[in-house]
Amino acid sequence: MTGALSADGLAIRTGEPGTRPRVLFVSHTGTMSGAELVLRDAVRPWTGSTAFLFEDGALADVLRGAGLTIRLARRGSGLSGLRRDASVLRALPKLGRLAGLALEIARAARACDVVYANSQKAFLLAAIPARLVGRPILWHLHDILDGAHFGRAQRIVQARLANLCAARVVVPSRAAADAFIKVGGSASRVSVVPNGLDLDLDPRSPAALRAELGLPAGPLIGVFSRLAPWKGQDVVIEALARIPDLRGIVVGTALFGEDAYAARLRTLAAELGVADRVLFLGQRSDVPRLMQAVDAVVHPSVDPEPFGRTLVEAMLAGVPVIATDAGASAEILDGGAAGTLVPPRRPDRLAAALAAVLADPDAFAERTRLARDRARTRYGAAGMQQALATLILETVARA
Ligand code: UDP
Repeated sequence: MTGALSADGLAIRTGEPGTRPRVLFVSHTGTMSGAELVLRDAVRPWTGSTAFLFEDGALADVLRGAGLTIRLARRGSGLSGLRRDASVLRALPKLGRLAGLALEIARAARACDVVYANSQKAFLLAAIPARLVGRPILWHLHDILDGAHFGRAQRIVQARLANLCAARVVVPSRAAADAFIKVGGSASRVSVVPNGLDLDLDPRSPAALRAELGLPAGPLIGVFSRLAPWKGQDVVIEALARIPDLRGIVVGTALFGEDAYAARLRTLAAELGVADRVLFLGQRSDVPRLMQAVDAVVHPSVDPEPFGRTLVEAMLAGVPVIATDAGASAEILDGGAAGTLVPPRRPDRLAAALAAVLADPDAFAERTRLARDRARTRYGAAGMQQALATLILETVARA
């Protein structure tokens, strides 16, 4: 019944054009953070489908480029600014707009066979409209539903809504699945589909890349993530201050209003006397190249990560990885066999791990090779696309 559609030279089974289900991809934000990068890759086999977006922006451009029809919500703009842990009281003034948006989603869903809600707010808004018009809905949950990220009431509401409405809940790791189930989410609905990504690696040596990128010689580490308190860039700066002559690049910007934290990082570097050793490079579109140019990548999140794309990117780039042991890091790094795990919020332990990697890189070569093989075999984009396509087709068949 299903035919093969080529995506990046790999056969992704989504059905013959014309008989393929019509998917409505729903996203609440136009900004590209990890969840939107996953969506960008997930839609590749679904040319001709529709994306319903709450707001215009980079994501709309990317999805348009992937051959999707874009429907922009008339009442969605600005709703992505509503904090995901906002109380009902804060959401109240926006209730009229939220209701209007739900109606728009219901209309769009009726024209499709299945709804695919990317991330939390998209699911909260699309779940009931999709069910009301009789369309099954998949929730791609990119968050870890634990106390570090959400209030208790919020976690319970999300899990109950999923049990009530979602045909399937897709999560990127066992850690995210466990958190969902712990708060009452139905285990039989959960499928773990790790984020999958491919990188264009640069054949040049780290030294050549550094010269081109204008990066300094000598010991250099990197941290690659949007700037947010729970991403832990401050811990890296504190660790760096403990190692003389070590420099670090901080890549990323405050994507969701965490500008005060971004400013605090600069103040912290100055206070610790390392302002000249910490280079803030802002948001970049050449993360893989930058990773290839450094001696080690640090993934310092202080709260559990649902996945952590940058971990896999560093593994693919063939650079030693040091990550905090919170959330999915241990799963991705094979319990520490594919990278070093340190406790969160411990600059002393991070500094010790960094010093070990920098002192004897050869001792870590085998581990780095293992990490690259692991990332290639487990976390490729085609594998993710295939797994998601299978779940979408199964959901439509059951409905
Ligand atoms: N990223 C980027 N440019 C930057 C900083 C980050 O392209 O300046 C990318 C990074 O390479 C990764 C993604 O943003 O692919 C972040 O995903 P992750 O899962 O690590 O974190 P999230 O933002 O989803 O919490």
